[in-house]
Parts: sequence; C-alpha cells; structure tokens
Amino acid sequence: MEARSSGAEWQNWSGYVRGRSRAFAQPADEDELRALVAQAPRVRAVGAGHSFTPLVPTEHLLLSLDRLTGLLGHDPQRYTATVWGGTRLYELGPMLQEVGQALPNMGDIDRQSIAGAVSTGTHGSGLGLGSLAAGVAGLRLVLADGGVLECSPAQNPEVFRAAGVSLGTLGVISQVTLQNVPSYRLEERVRVVGLSTLLPQLPSLAQENRHLDCHVFPFSGQTIVKTLNPAQEPAGKTEVNSFVENTVLRWACEVARALPVLNAPLQRLVGVLVGSSRRVGESYRIFATPREVRFNEMEYHVPAERGPECLEEVCHAIRRSGVQVFIPVEYRYVAGDGFWLSPFQGGARASIAVHQYHKQDPWPLFRVVEPVLRRYGGRPHWGKMHGLKAGELRELYPHWDDFRRVRLELDPRGKFLNAHLREVLGA
Ligand SMILES: Cc1cc2nc3c(=O)[nH]c(=O)nc-3n(C[C@H](O)[C@H](O)[C@H](O)COP(=O)(O)OP(=O)(O)OC[C@H]3O[C@@H](n4cnc5c(N)ncnc54)[C@H](O)[C@@H]3O)c2cc1C
Repeated sequence: MEARSSGAEWQNWSGYVRGRSRAFAQPADEDELRALVAQAPRVRAVGAGHSFTPLVPTEHLLLSLDRLTGLLGHDPQRYTATVWGGTRLYELGPMLQEVGQALPNMGDIDRQSIAGAVSTGTHGSGLGLGSLAAGVAGLRLVLADGGVLECSPAQNPEVFRAAGVSLGTLGVISQVTLQNVPSYRLEERVRVVGLSTLLPQLPSLAQENRHLDCHVFPFSGQTIVKTLNPAQEPAGKTEVNSFVENTVLRWACEVARALPVLNAPLQRLVGVLVGSSRRVGESYRIFATPREVRFNEMEYHVPAERGPECLEEVCHAIRRSGVQVFIPVEYRYVAGDGFWLSPFQGGARASIAVHQYHKQDPWPLFRVVEPVLRRYGGRPHWGKMHGLKAGELRELYPHWDDFRRVRLELDPRGKFLNAHLREVLGA
C-alpha cells in the first residue's frame, strides 16, 4: 500500500490532458487490486498515459498496474503467453524472446502498457496483421464489485467481443493472454520518394510487404517509405539515427513554428537528411523507435481501398488551408478484427494520422483534416484526438448497442466512466 498517495496530479505524454485524483494506487497483487476497485466510488486505470484523449482522468481513484508486470505463463506449442496487464511493451519484447515468442506486430513506440494499448485498439502496420487487440486470446477482468471474470472466444464470448477494445470501461484488465508467433527477425528498408509516384503504388506495396509505413510531408510531397519484411540473416546494429528522428525534427518544428515561411523549404530538405537505409534485427527492436519530440495527434481509420485517395485529399487540404505543420502525415494499413468497438471491426483499414508539435494548438490542423477523414467513412483512434460524440460514433459501429448492453450489465452504476467517456459512449 506504500505506493499509494492521495491527491495525484496527472498528465498525459503530450501534456495536453491533465487531471487531479483524490487517490492514486499501485496494487502489488490482484487481491489488493480487487479490494481497491470494490471500495472506490469511481475508478480509472492508467497505463503509460500515452493516449491523447482524456480517457484516464478521474476525480476519484486512479489505478496504475505498474507493479503488476511480467510473464505469468506460456504455452510453447500454441505460442500463447499470459502476462500481467501492467507489462510495458518494451519489457514484453525481451521477455517473449526468452521463451521463443514474439508479438505478431507492434506500433512505432514500445512505451505503452499491454492493457492500455489493447484497450484503445493500438496498432502497427500490415495489411495482413491486426491491431494488438486482434492478438489477444483471453482477458482477465476485475469487475466493479471486485469480482473476477475471464473471457476468451470460448469463455464468456460476448464479454470477450466487447472487452477487446473497451477503453477500461468494463473493468480493470489484470491479465492478458496473447496469441503470439515464433520469434522472428525483420529487415527494415527506408527510402524517400515523391507522393505522386507513391500514391498509385500503395495497394501493391501493401500486398508485397509484411509492413508498410509512410510519412508524407504535404508541403514538399517528400515521403519516407518504410517497409519491414522477415529476415533470415543474423541481427546487426539496430539503433536508429536518433539525430534525425529527434534532434533535427525538434529543430525543424521550432523553426517552422517561428518562421512558417520556412516550413516548405525545410520539408524539401528531408530527402537529403533521411536518405536510404537498411537494418536487420529482432522484430521488437525494429518496430519501435524513440519519440522524444512531443506532439498531439489525430488518427482515423478509413476503409483500406479508399486509403490512397483519402491520403491525397488530406495532404491537399493541409496545403490549401495554410495551417503550418512540420511533422509528416503517417499512413499505415491494419487488418480487420471482430471486437465490437475496434476501429478495424469488419475489415482492413488504412490509418491516416496528423500530428501537431506540442507547443502549437493542434485544433486548427485537426479541424481542416477531420471532415476529410469523416467523408471517407473513417473511424477515429480511441486514444487520439477527435471531435466525435456518441451519436456520430454510434453510426460507425454496427455493434454499438451490443457493447452498450454488455457494459451496462457489467457496470450498471458507471464506476469505470469519466466525463469524456460519458460523452463519447453516451452513457
Ligand atoms: C509517441 C506516441 C506514439 C504512439 N504510437 C502509436 C502507434 O504506433 N499506434 C497506435 O495505434 N497508437 C499509438 N499511440 C497511441 C497509444 O498507443 C494508445 O493511446 C495507447 O492506448 C496508450 O497505451 P497506455 O499504456 O499509455 O494507456 P493509457 O493511455 O494510460 O490508457 C489508455 C486506455 O486504456 C485503459 N487502461 C489502461 N490500463 C488498463 C487496465 N489495466 N485495464 C483496463 N483498462 C486500462 C485506460 O483507462 C484508457 O482508457 C502512440 C502514442 C504516443 C504518445
């Protein structure tokens, strides 16, 4: 109990979302977690605080699972592993490697907790690869009354379909069972191409490569194209050029903010600074790169086949608007899954993300881009900024009412809700 303090000040990674809770706790085991949840009038769980939306703040009890981390067990035949919900992705990589397993996919950082990443539909890139939630084989939930419920495709399947992406609104995820794959190495290739050359090639590049990740600079058209594919050769030096990724990016964001007229010329320099590169390493080392430049982000997932057209229109809208933004637009593909509130429910999507430097108001950019993303049938990332409320979100999710029913059954008094969730879920 010593890690608990009263009156916890809290802020997210970008500093945009802040909150103050009457109580903060880091339970040391599941029994303590259950007692804390049962006693508190309202509870929110926090992972690494890497969401940009106000999912986490609560005036009552803020619960961190930072002391509930690590591997609980694994099945070497089925390649499944059960881990504590508080385990960070950067801990998971080496931990799984030791038992010959790896996550099938990861996003571009590894700071998140597994429970937090799963809960918002966090994803990497790959037309044939689902989000982190899609790799979940089972969940263990601590419910509002302190009881425990296990769910999987075979056990409480309705709860499972609701819980896979559930924003911490059904209970606190104490354990996650992951369907992994045998550990593998990846070859990363990076090159810079013009957007007009790239756009018609996107569908075939997505088919031909296990992962495709593009960063488009709208004012110059320069695009950093990253592909990842399985590699047989031994791992080499995996460190990325942090000077370009972080120091140059921060410098460019500062200069472009102070002197917007330099935004386009600076974007044209990207090709010179980034160039082409290649590296091979264990999958978990290749996926994640350090992100030291803070930003706020909006990301929508549009039907995969409409991705290239939507990307082109987003870039056009940014150029036409005159809004100054240096950080590139990110474009990825994600396979479909069956979780009721997953943005990827029902089929593959193209994910399009815009970022604004943390010292600039993100909303002038987001207001330009959001109507375009919505026109293409986009669903917002639950952990990234958007302007949608429950009525609009309900239209995007065929199983919205099924989720609502299960949530009401498990938490009729709304113990796991906060103001933001009441707005987006209409609860
Ligand atoms: C620099 C940066 C890079 C990013 N890159 C990507 C990316 O490549 N792909 C992508 O999809 N997203 C990305 N994101 C978004 C991020 O992955 C998600 O917002 C993710 O949910 C954050 O995980 P977290 O552990 O920080 O969770 P938090 O932000 O702390 O919480 C997220 C949600 O999970 C809930 N939660 C946390 N722990 C539990 C638990 N034990 N039980 C139940 N609910 C819980 C919280 O209540 C909240 O609703 C990025 C964010 C940043 C800041």
